[in-house]
Amino acid sequence: MKLTDDSFRRILDNLHDGLYFVDRQRVITYWNKAAERISGFTAAEVVGKSCADNILTHVDGHGCALCTGTCPLAETMCDGKLRQGEIYLHHKDGHRVPVSVRASPLTDEAGSVIGGIELFTDISHQAANELRIIELERMALLDNLTQLANRAYVEREIISRFEEIRRFADQPFGFLFMDIDHFKTVNDRYGHDVGDVVLKFIARTLNANARPYDVYGRWGGEEFAGVIRCIGEKDLERMGNRLRSLIETSYVVHGDRRISVTMSIGATLFRSDDTTENLVKRADELLYRSKRAGRNRLTLG
Ligand code: GH3
Ligand code: MG
Ligand code: MG
Repeated sequence: MKLTDDSFRRILDNLHDGLYFVDRQRVITYWNKAAERISGFTAAEVVGKSCADNILTHVDGHGCALCTGTCPLAETMCDGKLRQGEIYLHHKDGHRVPVSVRASPLTDEAGSVIGGIELFTDISHQAANELRIIELERMALLDNLTQLANRAYVEREIISRFEEIRRFADQPFGFLFMDIDHFKTVNDRYGHDVGDVVLKFIARTLNANARPYDVYGRWGGEEFAGVIRCIGEKDLERMGNRLRSLIETSYVVHGDRRISVTMSIGATLFRSDDTTENLVKRADELLYRSKRAGRNRLTLG
């Protein structure tokens, strides 16, 4: 799945956390909606201003000014290390808001520091904080480990495809449900970190071989799902088997060993009277049949 710049911008804008970027001179270049809500300052009021100009006038727990003293963003840009802590920002209305702050450097492709990022969370209400976690979990679209779409995104994609089927009845869509075979053995034999490397390699294989309009995601654990557009049964089977054999014949190098895995697949077409639950249940049952039949195979149904 490729996200456009617009998608990224929307995700950043809609984060529950305040987020801003500065350039090397600490001039604010981006200020998201949550930053507006938490600080009371709109993007128009702060973008283009230097955060050292004392707009935000962060202070620490002892009341010491950070913007003109030891600014965590300035320090982060100097040594490239992440900084975090709890500080107080100045709200436009005058009061102090306790925030938990994480500052990190912004680097270009060559790794040179071109600015800094500060992410801040309003910690004045613990309840709001808990809500934030739920909201972030619900809204976050990417799986952190594999950088693939996460389950919430795949579920949204399935719903959109159902809407499309209802409008254009002749649009066939396919669903692939994939599970790595004996993955527990990989973890047990090589360790969890190597297991993670294998998960990332599977994700990259799916992504690299996806057509631009298909969506592959990590459903959870060592399960992956693909929502495939405009496809009939035969091609869905062919596509699933191609992915299966690409994975079977690839490997991850660990020391002097090559680790390879296989995966079992359930493949099915969307039916217009399906619900997401039905569709996934059917694909899961087909996957289970692949497992029982000896694994490393695809069952279509
Ligand atoms: P089967 O062929 O029947 O699918 O066997 P399996 O060993 O793959 O199945 P099982 O469901 O018993 O084990 C799945 C394993 O996946 C167990 C769990 O520790 C591992 N796992 C789940 N999520 C992660 C993860 O994020 N990283 C790593 N390294 N392992 C994970
Ligand atoms: Mg599993
Ligand atoms: Mg498995």
